[in-house]
Amino acid sequence: MWSSEDNDQFIEWWRKTKWFHEHDRKNGYTEPKIIWGSPKRANCWPNIYEGAACLDGQPIVVCKRCSKALKHPAVGTGNSTIERHFTGKDCKKISRARGLPQITIEESFRAKV
Ligand SMILES: [Zn+2]
Repeated sequence: MWSSEDNDQFIEWWRKTKWFHEHDRKNGYTEPKIIWGSPKRANCWPNIYEGAACLDGQPIVVCKRCSKALKHPAVGTGNSTIERHFTGKDCKKISRARGLPQITIEESFRAKV
């Protein structure tokens, strides 16, 4: 998982992953434009971890509530996927089973404009 403290280490590892190399090749050797820890997603941070899959390096975010891995917004469809996830019934069900309080979309994305 990515964290601001070991950003350098993470990027170094990630540049060697399969996903990174394939992406690189497909896009004419331009580096994938992913801003790790982007302030744009700051409103999601309380509920997600950002990272890349250990196996192949595909960027992902992991829901802290139900532990489900989702496509990283920078390579997927943006923040809306994550926003939808929190209101989805699977996430709610697992959160409830874990005894987590219900969150509303307003609470999880207070800073959203
Ligand atoms: Zn979830």
